[in-house]
Amino acid sequence: MTAPHDTTAGADTAPVKQDFIRQIVRDDLASGKHAAIRTRFPPEPNGYLHIGHAKAICLDFGIAEEFGGRCNLRFDDTNPAKEDPEFVAAIQDDVRWLGFEWNSLRHASDYFEVFYLAAEKLIRQGDAFVCDLSPEEVRAYRGTLTEPGRESPYRNRGVEENLDLFRRMRAGEFADGARTLRAKIDMASGNINLRDPAIYRIKKVAHQNTGDAWPIYPMYDYAHALGDAVEGITHSLCTLEFEDHRPLYDWCVDRVDLAGNPELLAPLAAKGLPIEAAKPRQIEFSRLNINYTVMSKRKLTQLVTEGLVDGWDDPRMYTLQGLRRRGYTPGALRLFVDRIGISKQNSMIDFSVLEGALREDLDARAPRRMAVVAPLKLVLTNLPEGHAETLRFANHPKDESFGEREVPFSRELWIEGDDFAEVPPKGWKRLVPGGEVRLRGAGIVRCDEVVKDADGGIVELRGTLDPESRPGMEGANRKVKGTIHWVDAARAVEAEVRLYDRLFSVPDPDDESEGLGYRDHLNPDSRATVRGYVEPAAATASAEQSYQFERLGYFVADRRDHREGAPVFNRSVTLRDTWAAKA
Ligand code: ATP
Ligand code: MG
Repeated sequence: MTAPHDTTAGADTAPVKQDFIRQIVRDDLASGKHAAIRTRFPPEPNGYLHIGHAKAICLDFGIAEEFGGRCNLRFDDTNPAKEDPEFVAAIQDDVRWLGFEWNSLRHASDYFEVFYLAAEKLIRQGDAFVCDLSPEEVRAYRGTLTEPGRESPYRNRGVEENLDLFRRMRAGEFADGARTLRAKIDMASGNINLRDPAIYRIKKVAHQNTGDAWPIYPMYDYAHALGDAVEGITHSLCTLEFEDHRPLYDWCVDRVDLAGNPELLAPLAAKGLPIEAAKPRQIEFSRLNINYTVMSKRKLTQLVTEGLVDGWDDPRMYTLQGLRRRGYTPGALRLFVDRIGISKQNSMIDFSVLEGALREDLDARAPRRMAVVAPLKLVLTNLPEGHAETLRFANHPKDESFGEREVPFSRELWIEGDDFAEVPPKGWKRLVPGGEVRLRGAGIVRCDEVVKDADGGIVELRGTLDPESRPGMEGANRKVKGTIHWVDAARAVEAEVRLYDRLFSVPDPDDESEGLGYRDHLNPDSRATVRGYVEPAAATASAEQSYQFERLGYFVADRRDHREGAPVFNRSVTLRDTWAAKA
């Protein structure tokens, strides 16, 4: 009964998205600068994707889709020590889950041979040199924001010597860190990225794709720029922290000029890859930041390795795997990304915008069910022992296409403990001793007796069902103050219900003033596990099915632990924002 995720829904009527990047793309297509566009999403496979990545994915893949272009998924795997095939698989899973498909799956490591030939070309042009300074010396020579750097004493080595040393680096003759290949740009540049940055380093570490083939690895900026150029990316979209790297990006692209030097692309044939090289343009947009979250792979990794959460897909995590397990839908995340828009302005998005998108998506998609999470027995004493009926309930109040279901009803019910008060606070609309309340879809009940144990604890309530108030009867519309949900005690299924809330209790968990860190701001109430009861039509859910449990919130059948007959539900989000008042 899952409403399938439909990525095309509303495509005809959806407003055309307007932002500065889409405008650039439109202009480039209109002017004929590009006949077709190409984008890429270039994660480093060193962790799981988080919700910030969802913004980049929706932009990279979304723009290609909207403008009839292509988008590659490229793993920027230039850092062998930190990368793991587990992440590679999870990232593909996440992109597909969001509803996107790549034109071509690539790895920066597919191009190592091309990058190497390009580096030799730079050396021959006098644009790169082998430097023997140690990492500490390089730092000392680099200068500061206010002082220019100093030129390396190795900067003016001849081309032949550079070529020889670089080839020997590649042959594995030197120790890790002993030498680097550096771009020869400008040690006096105001942009530190242009002060003869390293483009190759020696690192004798096996790589997950290339094994022991390479004792040297290209640096990120160089590999990223050339990776885009190899793939013929037209619009290389990235976050604002790369703005200062753009001059280096352009330098690499222009000095190597892959499109104008097809001999550099010869190694692609051996890998069965097409020749598509072109000159890319980098465009930056602002990162997604959401309050009450941390959003760097490093911190998310620490939460996992330090056991502060139960793994990468803990439903409280802001990884896509965590959000998915929590019950976030691709539709909700795409709605969220559309809503926050794309700009160059850094901003902090309120967490309620994310939760609001989830409520909106699930309100339309999730069938309704009844469940009780703090069960209190209610016995309807005027029904005979063994009395059992089957009622019919609409699955969705606003959408008949969801159909109906059978809901059992009998003499003994579970109601929510919170819906009864012996001494009600002011304005109470639910059940009290001697008072009446409507049982959703079943009739009006009066509480006659509160049965207690020796310690004064409430054992059960005993009440009378008004026989004139049953569905369809005239008395059914009689006014009573409140309506509560319930499940049939005889046929409801016991369920584990995990009541999740925000992982952090403060808007800025990254705030490190007063010597605190994000670990000190974990919300102690971010998870409570209770035993509750769900109606039979919820117990048969398949994993990842979302429901609205009436009056409680949206819940999802846990994708790891839920079993038919032993249901496990995660609370995705409450029906209303309970945090707005606290903030
Ligand atoms: P982190 O800083 O969390 O480790 P990253 O930027 O190092 O993330 P990458 O794997 O390099 O992660 O990112 C892949 C793409 O996702 C990049 O283009 C990057 O700009 C983008 N991206 C990462 N974080 C965000 C974010 N918070 N908002 C929007 N885009 C992001
Ligand atoms: Mg990174």
